[in-house]
Amino acid sequence: MRSALPKPVLYRGRFAPSPSGPMHFGSLVAALGSYLQARSQQGSWQVRIDDIDPPREVEGAAQDILLTLQAYGLNWDGDVIYQSHNSQHYDHILSQLTNQQLCYACACSRKIIRQNGGLYRGTCRNKQLPEINNALRINLNNMTHPVTHFDDCLQGSVLLDERQATEDFIIRRKDGLYAYNLVTVIDDINQGITEIVRGADLLNTTGKQITLYQLLNNKPPAYLHLPVAVTAPGQKLSKQNHALAITKDNPIPTLLAALSFLGHTAPQGIADKSCFEILKWAVQNWSQDKLPHLTEIQIKN
Ligand code: GLU
Repeated sequence: MRSALPKPVLYRGRFAPSPSGPMHFGSLVAALGSYLQARSQQGSWQVRIDDIDPPREVEGAAQDILLTLQAYGLNWDGDVIYQSHNSQHYDHILSQLTNQQLCYACACSRKIIRQNGGLYRGTCRNKQLPEINNALRINLNNMTHPVTHFDDCLQGSVLLDERQATEDFIIRRKDGLYAYNLVTVIDDINQGITEIVRGADLLNTTGKQITLYQLLNNKPPAYLHLPVAVTAPGQKLSKQNHALAITKDNPIPTLLAALSFLGHTAPQGIADKSCFEILKWAVQNWSQDKLPHLTEIQIKN
């Protein structure tokens, strides 16, 4: 009998917005880039709502984001995933890390760390403090190869701050909320994500996330960090600085602008078509080589 050929790994991408406000041009770029990267490889594209931080959540924002994606024709596969539904799984992974002594409780306040030079130096590592009312930090003490760089599919070889790479970072906050880096990695593993396409504002978190993949014995996905839309150098559009919400009523001009931002200017005449037709053109013409090799691009807000 002939042995079966190994199944090709299917591309799986995702868009993972935090529901801290409506979608703005910057979040549309991240959604569109990850969508096109997936669809141009016949891959699947999932949407996950990163709602693990209730104090930062804006009521109705999650639903508004989903309606905006639909208005732009960015249809996802399967059910939307909500991080707020996954607490049990996060707790399970946290207890695994605790049992393997890969994390520990820490009572140091931000003020204390700032007074000690701004970098956490493992002060509580051997104190055996109770987990309750304390933050949990990952224990990098035994890590022989801290993650000091990684290869990004667009930004090339990214060097990370060596001191930060060896810092025991927080995976659960003192107030009991899970840290973004931990839950992102747990869910991306669970969802079988093969490539993460997101804004270059998250480049610096990637080292910590790759570290977590290693500690959880998983192969990290590929990373592609897109340029971020800024209004002035270093001033990214964000929900916190009240970037304008994008319109749901007349999506085509904004969709075309987001495509141009990503180096894919659509041919004249296409503006009369529907979002569906424009996205069809974009999927067929999508090329990673056309993406600007930049971490930020200035736009008018
Ligand atoms: N939820 C994060 C945000 O909205 C992005 C998560 C990610 O793409 O890793 O900034």
